[in-house]
Amino acid sequence: MDLKLNDRVVLVTGGAKGIGEAIVRTLAAEGASPVIIDRDLEAGSRLYNEIPGSQLVIVDLSCAENCETAVQNAIEKHHRVDALVNNAGVNDKVGLEHGSPQEYIASLERNLLHYYNMAHYALPQLKKSRGCIVNIASKTAVTGQGGTSGYASAKGAILALTREWAAELLDYGIRVNSIVPAEVMTPLYQQWLHTFPDPQRKLQTILGKIPLQKRMTEPAEIAAMVAFLISPRAGHVTGQHLFVDGGYVHLDRALT
Ligand code: NAP
Repeated sequence: MDLKLNDRVVLVTGGAKGIGEAIVRTLAAEGASPVIIDRDLEAGSRLYNEIPGSQLVIVDLSCAENCETAVQNAIEKHHRVDALVNNAGVNDKVGLEHGSPQEYIASLERNLLHYYNMAHYALPQLKKSRGCIVNIASKTAVTGQGGTSGYASAKGAILALTREWAAELLDYGIRVNSIVPAEVMTPLYQQWLHTFPDPQRKLQTILGKIPLQKRMTEPAEIAAMVAFLISPRAGHVTGQHLFVDGGYVHLDRALT
């Protein structure tokens, strides 16, 4: 199926590594022009040098001015934006008991505010292109995890904003959807695994709880859903939360 993404300019936050990197690679393979927006200069430069037609913008998205700069850089180069993929985030374990009001706000800055800021600054271009937004959320938004109030509430808000923006932007023909991953092997996930005394054992326990094939979701499987959602092939899909998780959240626990 031709996704008709040729020359589409797509902003991908957190595009240098993990799920974001897979999204950038998939979009490039479909002929799109991905804009890698990330704070990791080394990983970002490596990817940028591999992907002809891509753009690299190095910023920390935790402040609004940097989000505006990132969008402006993309507009200066391409003169248009066709889609925004809000993906950057980190499960930073700011809990209720082990946390503080200040840390909670900082977690929202890391995980939530830049989703709004990027959408806000990209909106004039998305209106012109009748573009799309895809927000990467997390299963923690609906299942909870414990010890991670900031991250879980940011991801819950991201699901709510997906519906809210889908409603607000109907008249502009802008579609807004969310993908909800559960367990995806990425640098961030590796880091998290290594906070346990026996990471390999922890991984085996997790795999046993994933209903479909007892395996992690591949970053490329999230990326394929992103590519479909931003393509005109998904032209009547909006306001949806798509769980790409091997049945982790919804299937009967008795199956695992
Ligand atoms: P990852 O491996 O850490 O890759 C994310 C990239 O985004 C990294 O290069 C990271 O840089 C960058 N980044 C993070 N915050 C940033 C900021 N404020 N400004 C600029 N760059 C920033 O993470 P991932 O596992 O691919 O996760 C991607 C998204 O999927 C996140 O929103 C995460 O919550 C979500 N998700 C992942 C899983 C999973 O199992 N992996 C499950 C559910 C949801 P640094 O390395 O410097 O932080």
